Amino acid sequence: MIEKTLWDTIIVGGGPAGLAAALHLAFHRRSVLVIDRGSGPLHHIKTPIQNLPGFVGKSGQEIQQALEQDARAAGAHLISDSIGHIEGSAGRFTLRGEHGTYQSRTLLIATGIARHHPLIDGDYRKWLPFAGKGNTFYCPDCEAPELLGKHVVVIESVKLKAALSTAKRISEFAATVRILLTDGAETLPPEEHLDTSCEVIEGQIKAVKGEDGVVQALLLDSGTEITADAYYVSNRKLPRNQLVEMLGGALDDRGHPITGPRGQLVQQGRGEEDHLEGVWIAGDLLPQTQQTTIAMGSGNKSAVMIDQYLTDLHERALGKEQVLQQG
Ligand SMILES: Cc1cc2nc3c(=O)[nH]c(=O)nc-3n(C[C@H](O)[C@H](O)[C@H](O)COP(=O)(O)OP(=O)(O)OC[C@H]3O[C@@H](n4cnc5c(N)ncnc54)[C@H](O)[C@@H]3O)c2cc1C
Repeated sequence: MIEKTLWDTIIVGGGPAGLAAALHLAFHRRSVLVIDRGSGPLHHIKTPIQNLPGFVGKSGQEIQQALEQDARAAGAHLISDSIGHIEGSAGRFTLRGEHGTYQSRTLLIATGIARHHPLIDGDYRKWLPFAGKGNTFYCPDCEAPELLGKHVVVIESVKLKAALSTAKRISEFAATVRILLTDGAETLPPEEHLDTSCEVIEGQIKAVKGEDGVVQALLLDSGTEITADAYYVSNRKLPRNQLVEMLGGALDDRGHPITGPRGQLVQQGRGEEDHLEGVWIAGDLLPQTQQTTIAMGSGNKSAVMIDQYLTDLHERALGKEQVLQQG
């Protein structure tokens, strides 16, 4: 039944952006299928989030479950699959996943961004047990006040310049901030970071001491042991834009999709008005601050536009029918 249906909208990505969109569309009696492979941050965050209105103190997992429940209760269908291929155009898009093939009149791509985790003895997966927010932090805009009075180490895998800017933001709250430059992160000539009081340590992480998702210490290749109250991960963010590229969508120089004034995806090599009909983008995948409320807002905005577009599509189809009958 799911594979045979021509859905009004398929949403790829069931994080806060996709689920906010699903709720709006299902509430407006649109048939909606949300396809998600379960790798978004809220699926994994076990500790409280403090900046999401209406959900303060709830864990990421509780928020994810509540958003899924609301979308389902409104009538959206949610399935687990990973989409690897998209083709077609407005009116009929075809999506192929690992478990099936799905079709829809319109599309919302809300696949988020991938984040690099620090390498532990050459393997980023060894960091994953600590990425659920025990005492690791990722976003100064979301979390900086949680670092009040704490001794913090910024683990920087990209460039010292980024770590210095993060350290500046965190210093408003933290008691002390040190920087660990690792994974071959770009450094800066000393004269360019003389104005900071941060200690900068360089080294590769050999092992993490800790349990229950809480880091107790980082052991470096050199034998140095680094301890802190909290660890801020400053890493490379890669938009999950493969499906956008497959559709011929335009990307900016950081790999985020370019959208027009009504949120539709712009075609590669064209101006803002030349959008790909029937395709919208929402959430962290857009060039915007990565926060749950912002992701939800952009999902909701796209859904409003999709709903209006589906009304127009329906009217156009009715118009054609009348012309045929008169003819
Ligand atoms: C550790 C951490 C802590 C954070 N803390 C906070 C916080 O305290 N406050 C706050 O406001 N924000 C916080 N954020 C940011 C917040 O989680 C994101 O802004 C938000 O989740 C973005 O929502 P989204 O729906 O755009 O993308 P995501 O939540 O990333 O969801 C995208 C979904 O798409 C799925 N997907 C991707 N590609 C495919 C595909 N091809 N097929 C099927 N499914 C696919 C993924 O599995 C994922 O579930 C935090 C992020 C991290 C990593």
